[in-house]
Amino acid sequence: MKILVINAGSSSLKYQLLDMPEGKVLAKGLCERIGIDGKYKYEAKGEKLEGETPMATHSDAIRFLTSMLVDPAKGVISDMKEIDAVGHRVVSGGEKLYESVLVTAESKKAIEECIPLAPLHNPANLTGISACEEVMPGVPQVAVFDTAFHAKMPKKAYIYALPYEYYEKYGVRRYGFHGTSHRFVSEQCAKAMGKDIKDLRIITCHLGNGSSIAAVDHGVSVDTSMGFTPLEGLPMGTRCGNIDPAIVETIAVKENLTVSQVLNILNKKSGVLGVSGVSSDFRDIAAAAKEGNERAALANDMFVYAVKKFIGAYAAAMGGVDAIVFTAGVGENDKTFRLKMTEGLEFMGVKVDPVKNDTRGKIAEITADGATVRTFVIPTNEELVIAMDTEAIAKAAK
Ligand code: AMP
Repeated sequence: MKILVINAGSSSLKYQLLDMPEGKVLAKGLCERIGIDGKYKYEAKGEKLEGETPMATHSDAIRFLTSMLVDPAKGVISDMKEIDAVGHRVVSGGEKLYESVLVTAESKKAIEECIPLAPLHNPANLTGISACEEVMPGVPQVAVFDTAFHAKMPKKAYIYALPYEYYEKYGVRRYGFHGTSHRFVSEQCAKAMGKDIKDLRIITCHLGNGSSIAAVDHGVSVDTSMGFTPLEGLPMGTRCGNIDPAIVETIAVKENLTVSQVLNILNKKSGVLGVSGVSSDFRDIAAAAKEGNERAALANDMFVYAVKKFIGAYAAAMGGVDAIVFTAGVGENDKTFRLKMTEGLEFMGVKVDPVKNDTRGKIAEITADGATVRTFVIPTNEELVIAMDTEAIAKAAK
């Protein structure tokens, strides 16, 4: 079964065509600057192409990418009819959409109702769905939610200590994000350990430009660091993570800004970028710290410290931990961060072997001899999870 996976943003659209159940990536690419001018990247059969082509709408982008997929020279399929189903990444499924669903008029309405919870993302995701409906009528489409894996968190973990009516009236609660990634790497971790995930307590650390940690207790995400929006939790590339909410008023008053303007700063100008003043990219910050930039070193230390605190907290939440997983850009690639984030955790049975830790971008166990908690590097693959769910739901719908 060939599944097209779509991740639609407001002016961009990432895609992969996967051959299932093997999960082989036949082609992948990116359409950018949709509605502005139009740029593309396309990769298939070991060849990479990029260029410009007008893309006024997401439908134009879908038409363009499918024309590439069926192109006699550059393509990987001979007819659009070979695309059996389309899987969409949708950021928020709110409280009602707690697992992947077939796109129907009803489920689209439910996704629309979640727009207040993800005002930047859900409208773009819906645009991607509509564009596929227009260009590929009759092809089953499936929505896979970033929030779904966290939907079984206990209420004590998702409720905020605010007037309860805000939860009831506005859905103000922790939802968590990166769920597809936490689900995938925790399942892979159990596989690598040769155990049933239902017998394991795993802490999954998704550390990239956006970062979150999840406590996966016997296969269920029981807590996670991101909250009502992806701003909460760890300090990130440009996001502040946890701060005292009273800071918002202080900045607004002192800098003469509106709440929205302050939130923009907390989302886009904070995190390791804000502290270091160098960059939001952890590689740039590491390079600056190496050259003696103290604020860059501080940004690194702050990030490492925050990750350690969540690891400790989630071990406590689950009454222990059997495995820790590092994934995403930083988690998969940066051995120095992994070592620092686990240093001093020997008291709880965590110790990483520096030699085994000298790895990147592939599944590896990095546990030191004698450690009782096993530590892994596991590359995430959200597209594969979307394709797996899409395949299962599309087959069932036939
Ligand atoms: P992601 O959002 O998962 O794509 O991760 C992006 C972050 O991962 C950026 O801050 C990068 O600096 C970081 N990253 C990517 N590759 C590497 C690498 N080889 N070494 C260290 N950090 C990396």
